[in-house]
Order: sequence, then C-alpha cells, then structure tokens
Amino acid sequence: MVKAIVGANWGDEGKGKITDMLAKESDIIVRFQGGANAGHTIVNDYGKFALHTLPSGVFYDHTTSILGNGVALNIPVLFGEIQELVKRGVPQPKILVSDRAQMVMPYHILLDAYEEERLAGKSFGSTKSGIAPFYSDKYAKIGFQVSELFTSREALMDKITRVCELKNILMEHLYHKPALKPEEIFQELMSYKKMVEPYVCDVSAYLYQALKEGKEVLLEGQLGSLKDPDHGIYPMVTSSSTLAGYGAIGAGIPPYEIKKIITVVKAYSSAVGAGAFVSEIFGEEADELRRRGGDGGEYGVTTGRPRRMGWFDTVASKYGCRVQGTTDVAFTVLDVLGYLDEIPVCTAYEIDGERTTEFPVTAKLEKAKPVLETLPGWKCDIRGIRKYEDLPENCRKYIEFVEKKIGFPITMVSNGPGREDIIYR
Ligand code: GDP
Repeated sequence: MVKAIVGANWGDEGKGKITDMLAKESDIIVRFQGGANAGHTIVNDYGKFALHTLPSGVFYDHTTSILGNGVALNIPVLFGEIQELVKRGVPQPKILVSDRAQMVMPYHILLDAYEEERLAGKSFGSTKSGIAPFYSDKYAKIGFQVSELFTSREALMDKITRVCELKNILMEHLYHKPALKPEEIFQELMSYKKMVEPYVCDVSAYLYQALKEGKEVLLEGQLGSLKDPDHGIYPMVTSSSTLAGYGAIGAGIPPYEIKKIITVVKAYSSAVGAGAFVSEIFGEEADELRRRGGDGGEYGVTTGRPRRMGWFDTVASKYGCRVQGTTDVAFTVLDVLGYLDEIPVCTAYEIDGERTTEFPVTAKLEKAKPVLETLPGWKCDIRGIRKYEDLPENCRKYIEFVEKKIGFPITMVSNGPGREDIIYR
C-alpha cells in the first residue's frame, strides 16, 4: 500500500516527524518533489537531525530511502547528508536515486542568488538553493537527468556548451557576472557522477515490483498545499507540486496506488517567505509563539530565518486538506499552545466587506482580513499524554472545533517532537 504524507499549510507542519514515525511500519520511503530548499527536523535515538534531501526514513535499517524523479537533486548536499549521518553513528542507509531525477546544477544556485539580488526588496524570499531556476530549466527542456552522467563525454559536453551559451547571456548582460565555463561544469558533473553512482536505479520499475510484492511505501511531501504552484498562493509558491497527487508522477507509480493521504496540519500557523498570510500576528505575541513553537522555536531549518507566525486558520487548512485529497489529518505541535489563556482561531475571511470560508485566489487573498473566534486555553503541559480521553477538556474542544471547521478527520494528534509523542483517535 502507498501512503502519502503531505502538508496542508505553508510547510513546517511536522511532516518529518510523522514520516519518521510511520516509517517504522514501512519498507520504502520516497521523496517525490522539491529540493534542498526546505528541511525536516527529526528527533530520535541518534539525536536531532536536520534533513534537506534525504527522506525522513533513513534512520531505520529496514527501510529503503528513495529520491524520485520529481525531486530537484542536489548531489553534493545528498552526499554530505549521507556522510553526516554515518559520522554520527546512524547505520549506512539504503538509498536509491532515480536515473530520471534531474540535477541542480552549480549555475542554478548562482542564478537563484543573482535574481534575488536583482529583485532586491521585491524578491520572493528564495532560499537560494537553485530550485526555481532548476524547475524552469526542467520544463524548458534544458535540464540534466542523472542518466546523462553516464553518456559519452562528447554528448554531455555538447549539451553543456549549448546551455552555457544561453545562460551566459543572462550572466553577462543581466547580472554582470563572470561567464560560465563548459569544461568546469563538465568536471563538476564528473564529481557528481562519482558521488551518486552507487545509488542510481530505475526507481519506477523498482517500485512497480515492490508494490507487486505487497511492500509498504510512504511518499514524503515537502512544504504544503499553500505553496503548490497551481493551488497555492501563486506566485509566492515553490516550483514543484506539493500535492499528494503529484506523488504518483514524482515517484513513478500509478495514481490509484495511493490509498491513504495523511495531511499534516499544525495547531497554529507559521510561514516562510513573502506572500499573503491572513492570520499573521506580530510583536510580542508573535515572538512568544515563535520562541515556544516547534522543538526549539520556529526558525528555518535551512536558513535559520525566523518564521512568520499566526493563529490557526481554518479557511486555509480546510482548503489545504481538500486539495491534498486528505483521508487522515495528523494535527501537530498542539503541546506548544499550552501557555495561552485564550486561543484565537481564524474561522473566516472578510474580503471587500464580505465574509467567506472559501480560500480565495491570490489577488483576493491579499485583501482578506481575518475573522477570529476565541477558544479557552488548557493552561498545562500535555506532553507525555498517550490517550485522547486524558487530554484536558479544553484541549479536546480545540481539536474537535478545528476538525469540524476543516471537515476532515483528525486521526492523530502530535503532542511533542519525539516519535512516541502521538495520540491515535
Ligand atoms: P516539516 O518540514 O513539516 O517536517 O516540519 P519541520 O521539521 O520544519 O518542523 C517541525 C518542527 O516541529 C520540528 O522541529 C519538529 O521536531 C517539531 N515537532 C513536530 N511535531 C511536534 C509536536 O507535536 N510538538 C512539538 N513541540 N514539536 C513538534
């Protein structure tokens, strides 16, 4: 069976923890989109890890971790992460990389940084990992697949030279930076080849066989629904689809194999990068939630940037769950809210004087004002509780209020960063 673990919000919902937890009963974990621009934080017996490229199942020795064709593959980052794990005592993970995955090229990272610099105040808040230039090239059909590392020098040099001609126009005339040298890029790719060679595989064929044998597969999404290029807050989105549906494409499996879509929803809101964020809070109120949020504060895993904070948004989360095709909601980081006397929740938007609970297109979203309702807090630490009935009444009321508003069943409640901090309903 295939299960997808995806986010309903702006990312950082705690997907890594849920994947790490469910990986225990899985054989294969696949990353199907995105790149090293975001990260998962995982806390387990080996310590605390920030993974940017590796799937969250790498800590088990019974699992195979796969980077599917849909990812933006940064080979040096992948290689570095594998080495770091092994150095810290994690057994050498079994990793497969799709021969159809495309590679983040050194110039993608340069172009990302140069473009952010050029846009200055109007930038998208990119992490400068090269993701937008990477996916642009993929769809412009000038990207490089892993399989191309294994073609002849002549074929590869020929393509690199053609691509450099194009890129160098931007380098020289738009960004006023040094031109790319095809030979240097070729040499860099040869170093990537050495790093990735042991892992390269026809992933789609591998998964076809695995599913035939009844293996348990997890698809691990990056970011969340609202960062999807089609259904999110375009253009303040990421460059690859964050939806479970894309899991079929980005892993190379039939869509009908995805039987469970576990959408991770965070008990309050946080976002990174620019863009409308209706339930956003500021000042001391935001600082306190940021400081107490997640496991050690709401700061970017990749960038260390403070995340933007907000109250739970039922409009955005209901929509986020719907576009994922949610079968189960995992409601996370609920323990963090234990300090509040009262908990505001955004339950509708007011746009041009009209109230709505439907998440609108970006132009309207930018005009939306939050309509807040306030629920009583529970004023205690709920970590360590393992049974739903043992949660304080106001805490259960908060969960049930959210569940009713979003319209999808909350079957898991996460009340701490550890694997065992989970309550099944
Ligand atoms: P992801 O990108 O969706 O995997 O999310 P991140 O890893 O960026 O953010 C989740 C953060 O919250 C991590 O630091 C987790 O260890 C932490 N976390 C996950 N679930 C919980 C929870 O239920 N309670 C608390 N306090 N922290 C959690």
